[in-house]
Amino acid sequence: MGMQELPIYEAPVRGILTATSGFIREAGFSHSLTPARNCTFGCTYCYVPTMGIYGGLKPPDWQRWGQFTTFKSNAPDLLRKQLRKDQMIYCSPLVDPYQPAEERRQAMRPILAAIAERPPALFVIQTRGPLILRDLDLLRTLARHTTVRVSFSLTTDREEVRRWFEPHCAPLEERLRAIERLREEGIEVFATLAPLLPSNIERLVEAALQATTQDIIGDPLHIREHKRHGATTRQAAFRIAGVRGFREWLDPDFQVLLTARIAELVERAGRRFAAGPEGFSWLAALPAGAGGSIDASTRRNTAEGTGGSRQAWRSAREFGSVLGRVDR
Ligand code: SF4
Repeated sequence: MGMQELPIYEAPVRGILTATSGFIREAGFSHSLTPARNCTFGCTYCYVPTMGIYGGLKPPDWQRWGQFTTFKSNAPDLLRKQLRKDQMIYCSPLVDPYQPAEERRQAMRPILAAIAERPPALFVIQTRGPLILRDLDLLRTLARHTTVRVSFSLTTDREEVRRWFEPHCAPLEERLRAIERLREEGIEVFATLAPLLPSNIERLVEAALQATTQDIIGDPLHIREHKRHGATTRQAAFRIAGVRGFREWLDPDFQVLLTARIAELVERAGRRFAAGPEGFSWLAALPAGAGGSIDASTRRNTAEGTGGSRQAWRSAREFGSVLGRVDR
């Protein structure tokens, strides 16, 4: 069965905007918007199915992660009721809004249209899907009313690694072209190196620097954010790493060195690199004068990070310790 034929279901939900907590809140977002339950990218390392009910999933979702999806059928109607102008929205922590099933379902178009009708203070899309280019018209409209950013995930420069770990995602070149197109259209876009898969780090960082003009964000958001509920990388990714000879990429100390090396390369190019909430707080930074609903102390704690390299180092160690614990 091809990706296009995977079952797509619909179900109404009670609410569409969720007040943030943990990592995303610390980064500065007040709400998250998740347009579907289950993600047909089905990445081998995805943390979401390991969250179970904490990720708003039902058992078939985590048992058959990536094999079907259920769109929230009343999302646009709910948005019209729930949107407020001080909200800072992250879309999405639990699925990729431009997952393969979105090509057929086109859920994001009415969602973006509803958001443009009642624009929040900030709307950030986290994706790895070049399909986002389909909605350039709506993104441009939205960008006239509010701050819109795209955080585009780049995971590896090695095509065979991509095929092993995330076979349904686009190759790096396609993602870089999508980033460039978004920029040409005046949409602010960040490269997010997360999760970092086995790569030639120098080449991957260079590609990210070339494609974007913003600071570079890294670190696997997904693992640390939900750590307290025991969410972590799926076992499939550990098995692949073992079989393909990439075990060191799951080693905490190696991760620390990698992240520090990325910070060094990025800073040498005159830009900043950070991981964890500090990196993601750049996505949530509002232009001067715009008002969001996250209180000043949350924002200050994030902004007073320890600086790119040291923060990256700390985050990598935390990330590494999670991976390490699961690995043993
Ligand atoms: S890692 Fe992201 S894109 Fe991949 S399956 Fe999980 S939610 Fe979807």
